[in-house]
Amino acid sequence: MVVNEKVKLAITVATLVAATVLLAAEYRRRRRKQTSSPRSSSCYLHSDKKPQFGFKRVLADNSYSGFKHLKKKLEDGGDKPSNCHPYETEITALLENPRLDEFEFLRGGEYSLEMSDSYVWVETEFELKKLAETLAKEKVFAVDTEQHSLRSFLGFTALIQISTQEEDFLVDTIALHDVMSILRPVFSNPDICKVFHGADNDVLWLQRDFHIYVVNMLDTAKACEVLAKPQRSLAYLLESVCGVGTNKLLQREDWRQRPLSEEMVRYARTDAHYLLYIADSMTAELKQRGTEDSSSTDDKFSFLLEASRRSNMICLQLYTKETEDFPGNAAASSLIYRHLNGHGDNSSISLDPKFQELVRELCAWRDLMARIHDESTRYVLSDQAVIALASNHPTTPEDIHDSISQADESTPSAVICSHLDDVHQMTQHKLSKLDVILPLVLDKCLGTDGTCPISVFNYSLLVNFNTKLTHRSSAPPKRNGHNNNLKRFTRKTSRDLFVKKFSCKAPVYHNCRIYANDGRLLCYCDRRKLEWYMSRGLAKLVEEDPLAIMLLFEPKGRPEDEGNDFYIQSKKNICVGCGQGDHYLRYRIIPSCYRVHFPEHLKSHRSHDIVLLCVDCHEVAHAAAERYKKEVAAEFGIPLFVRRVMDSKEANGTECESTGGESEDAGVSPLHLRTAAMALLRHGNRMPSSRREELLQTVKMYYGGRDVTEEDLEKALLIGMSPHERRKHERKKGVSVKQENSNIVATDATDANGFEEGPPPGGDDVNEESSVVVDESGGDGAPELNDTQCNGNILHQQNSKLSLLGHGPHGKQVVEYLLKEHGEDGVRDFCQRWRKVFVDALHPRHLPGGWDVTHSGRRDFGEFSVYNPTKKVSTG
Ligand code: AMP
Ligand code: ZN
Ligand code: MN
Repeated sequence: MVVNEKVKLAITVATLVAATVLLAAEYRRRRRKQTSSPRSSSCYLHSDKKPQFGFKRVLADNSYSGFKHLKKKLEDGGDKPSNCHPYETEITALLENPRLDEFEFLRGGEYSLEMSDSYVWVETEFELKKLAETLAKEKVFAVDTEQHSLRSFLGFTALIQISTQEEDFLVDTIALHDVMSILRPVFSNPDICKVFHGADNDVLWLQRDFHIYVVNMLDTAKACEVLAKPQRSLAYLLESVCGVGTNKLLQREDWRQRPLSEEMVRYARTDAHYLLYIADSMTAELKQRGTEDSSSTDDKFSFLLEASRRSNMICLQLYTKETEDFPGNAAASSLIYRHLNGHGDNSSISLDPKFQELVRELCAWRDLMARIHDESTRYVLSDQAVIALASNHPTTPEDIHDSISQADESTPSAVICSHLDDVHQMTQHKLSKLDVILPLVLDKCLGTDGTCPISVFNYSLLVNFNTKLTHRSSAPPKRNGHNNNLKRFTRKTSRDLFVKKFSCKAPVYHNCRIYANDGRLLCYCDRRKLEWYMSRGLAKLVEEDPLAIMLLFEPKGRPEDEGNDFYIQSKKNICVGCGQGDHYLRYRIIPSCYRVHFPEHLKSHRSHDIVLLCVDCHEVAHAAAERYKKEVAAEFGIPLFVRRVMDSKEANGTECESTGGESEDAGVSPLHLRTAAMALLRHGNRMPSSRREELLQTVKMYYGGRDVTEEDLEKALLIGMSPHERRKHERKKGVSVKQENSNIVATDATDANGFEEGPPPGGDDVNEESSVVVDESGGDGAPELNDTQCNGNILHQQNSKLSLLGHGPHGKQVVEYLLKEHGEDGVRDFCQRWRKVFVDALHPRHLPGGWDVTHSGRRDFGEFSVYNPTKKVSTG
């Protein structure tokens, strides 16, 4: 009864609040029509009290500063270095010595699987302390969390469900937000095993909101993985293990509401209540599987240990706030990219620079407004609404209102309604520079007489924002020397340009999944690859979001069987060096100049050796690689650059080996040759004869001293060019370029993840990384063996595809040497050396789990794989 009254009251209040907001907005709309005053009434937040505004302390605020992790006091009194995992040692110990076999998930005796009617609602500090005491006495307990994400910028945990064998607890983490640290010790206690299902998010949310770190966990989703269950969802386990149904649609409910509806309570309890039973049944199965598969006691627990290891790996994850170079940048890029793709070829609107500019402005504004008001960006202004505004160019606040309403099929958000003027100014291009919008908006909203209230969420936004802006602004510096700042500014500008021009605009990894017909995960890949299988009826869709398919045929091998776990994890679209997420470039850990010369089947671990890096980390890694190339050059006695070239026809008989000191001077430097030929062809008739003679001399040296014709000059010009330049040059001259190697496809799109290449050739070989021979030398095509070289000098024949100006010839010689002296192992060792160079230079903190300097990537290749060495022999 009482509860019912409360619900009624809550609904009435909510309706009243909603109506008030709408009326107020409408009132302002009308008033603006009459007066169009720029400083309109105040923000909706003055009347809309959101539950999180009751929090006294927030660990992850909405500013652009990074997240600070818990600092654990060390035994010697010192601090652990900041932003390490505070329990790294404890978790690593568990990884090395898994203890899962010590835990019993159900105590013997009577146990009823049924969920009773009673549960404990925990909402006071006292009750929370009692819960902590209860849990401290347990060996195991089950956990699940619900978060709210629509009306909050970063999202917050709205409920934690904890179940012991005896009781279900629902912890009101909104009421108890500021005292949740009471539960910290039980969660980080390695003597208590916490059972989750699909813990990846929960672990991060607990860190973000409460600095709670989970140590010792069993994730039943990971157990599913190890047992190769056909599905890994909790709904599947509830059904198949416990015979219980659940309605997963409830996970999208507004978990802030109090009291929770009966249905929501039931759903929330269900998510934790059965986990201990499921864990019990699955660990039994894991042990059983171990005994079946092996009689030796060592292997007996291998399945169990693997499930434990994978679970505790999740605990090592650290929450990070997404950082980006400029507010809203990543969202804007992906929006534009998706829009362009969706439009196909009639993309005249979206190619319009004004459209893109407005999308960027709106996204920046949306990002900042979301932070100021602690709302999600999608609540402030949906993606569709951004596109609608940028395409329709509405001119009045009313049109803007209508444009958004139409796109969303609902009234614009409260943020929009109380800040329509900003949007209006942007669509009118009155605020054209992003740098201008942000300080203006910030000052207007939070400044000295700002319209919006200041809270714990946006306070540090105000404090920290100035520093962010001064870094970007070109305004003359106040304190530091002009030069210094100017330098920094131009460096920054050129860096920005570089990022804009070369970084990947859309996520590189789509992280769609492909399962084998026995339910085992085969790989992550992009949407295109899924569609390829689907369109041929070779697979069926098993999950919508994120997309996953199951193959209907028996694929070749399984990644785990081949010790290639690396290939079956999702990858983040972030810099593996520093974790930056708003832009990234592909970086080849093994430089292309070597890699292109590897035998095809050794090129196959591309997804391991091509990583994403931000511009800054890219620079560091690249510099280290260039230094190391010099070391390689010295070690192998193979110079990096070709010193001299000579036409092979004219050098007839001159054996490379037999050339004495005298013929060291034979030939000419490729750069000189190119410059000379170019100048002669362009300005030959107009230059003074002495200069002309000098240049001719250079070209003649290439041809062994003989007189040269116009045609010879043309040929000479091509020799000094990179293959890419050569093609461009020929195209310009109207010569059609012969595609000598038609199987070469330049794929620029998604090659950082090997699985993301186009359709698989044989269709049965999903473990294979690439189905096409990928042009790794930047569009240069595969080199042909047209040069004979010796000690940096080269006898040159026509049509070589190898650039003489880069490190191509060096790379080719090094790889040939390795193969000749040490065979394929030589190449593998060489790869390891490069991985070590990379790790030593960058100390990357975000490499995908399983990435390894010693990665061998030995894998089985399908019958039709381009990497299949036997195939190479039989066709070649
Ligand atoms: P669960 O443990 O499956 O109930 O999910 C935990 C939380 O994840 C929910 O409270 C939601 O905040 C979020 N969540 C999970 N799946 C979805 C989804 N499909 N749509 C929106 N939110 C989701
Ligand atoms: Zn506001
Ligand atoms: Mn749940």
